[in-house]
Amino acid sequence: MHYYSTNGKAPGADLHKAVVKGLAEDRGLYMPEKIKQLPKDFFDNIETKTFQEIAYTVADAFFGEDVDAESLKKIVYDTLSFDCPVVKIKDNIYTLELFHGPTLAFKDVGARFMARLLQYFIRQEGVHEQVNVLVATSGDTGSAVANGFLGVDGIHVYVLYPKGKVSPIQECQFTTLGQNITAIEVDGVFDDCQALVKNAFMDVELNQHMKLTSANSINVARFLPQAFYYFNAYARMKALGKAGNLVMCVPSGNFGNICAALFGQQQGLPIKRFIAANNANDIFYKYLQTGKYEPKASIQTLANAMDVGDPSNFARILNLYSQNGKLSAEDTHAAIIRLISGATFNDNQIRETMRHCYQDTNYILDPHGACGYQALVEGLKSGEVGIFCETAHPAKFKEKVDDILGINVEIPNRLAAFMEGQKQSIPMPKDFANFKQYLLRQ
Ligand SMILES: *Cc1c(COP(=O)(O)O)cnc(C)c1O
Repeated sequence: MHYYSTNGKAPGADLHKAVVKGLAEDRGLYMPEKIKQLPKDFFDNIETKTFQEIAYTVADAFFGEDVDAESLKKIVYDTLSFDCPVVKIKDNIYTLELFHGPTLAFKDVGARFMARLLQYFIRQEGVHEQVNVLVATSGDTGSAVANGFLGVDGIHVYVLYPKGKVSPIQECQFTTLGQNITAIEVDGVFDDCQALVKNAFMDVELNQHMKLTSANSINVARFLPQAFYYFNAYARMKALGKAGNLVMCVPSGNFGNICAALFGQQQGLPIKRFIAANNANDIFYKYLQTGKYEPKASIQTLANAMDVGDPSNFARILNLYSQNGKLSAEDTHAAIIRLISGATFNDNQIRETMRHCYQDTNYILDPHGACGYQALVEGLKSGEVGIFCETAHPAKFKEKVDDILGINVEIPNRLAAFMEGQKQSIPMPKDFANFKQYLLRQ
């Protein structure tokens, strides 16, 4: 498959290049040139298929030209070693629980898939040189990427995180792993970690010394596999006889997850419409209202994985509905608002929603899922069935959830196991010279 850049000024790429580079040379995002329609008979009996079977069919449409069938099947089956159930909350509102992966984050799927795909390309090329993945994290991404790449031979991962600024649970998820994962504790803030990674990619001497790549969420191998979730949700709803008029509501930050759902719809997945649920970072919401996209600095909220002031995948959504720039800005906006509506909630509204939902239904929402739930409560029309994604297990935000609901959220065994491990990390000042010397010694 050929991938082109949303900025249209860089040469295209094959899948291998798109995965290794992440971002195109013109800083645009890679888009697949074709989106293959899945055949009608796939949907006719989709409810009889497993998550893995469904995902393999979807993956084949995206990646089948570039990866042989047997390898792709292995990659998909290895990635999806867990369930993603649809749970009824009340009336016509259901939740798609995306937090049953190894680090209880929906990002686990993209991270694992990318790790396996990169390993496939490395083996195919017969490269013996180690590939080094650098990732800066404020919490969730680091744990998903570290666990996704754990034990994958030929690849070493360096996770850079700000000292004292990630939650203890999150820190355990990438500092206790060992093997091919090195945690680097930077004496600074998240932006310093990001700057170190960016400087490393631009440093000529370092790039001659070692093969560097990123595992950023804009990578096609990280965002596209999230489409699997939505096909599976449709299948489970069809089994319940509830798939006729589906509204998919996705709590969004960088818009990678909802973008994958939109790609799924382009492949033929019967979703009637979408809702992008935001916290107080309402840039996309404002775009829907006004047609103007005005990025700004992010503000801190209770749903901090969605604290994004300039969502990177917005460029993909625009490109998709402008038909790669063929439509005017007005027509593109019109096409987008026909399909996607928005919602935005401040921290007080998030707290209220969590309390109401718990009182009403006994379901424990996390602050991200709360935005999705409330958007459906307010926005679902009669005859529609709504599904919102629960993007994080409430135990990951235990202090906040306990405080808001006055309960004691149980920590799942998988999360507790991380907390028993030995924390190992390399302390690092925030200036680039030290980091570079450290990498040159590896
Ligand atoms: C990453 C994340 C989101 C936002 O997903 P995007 O793909 O960036 O829109 C929402 N909730 C949680 C818990 C996350 O970790």
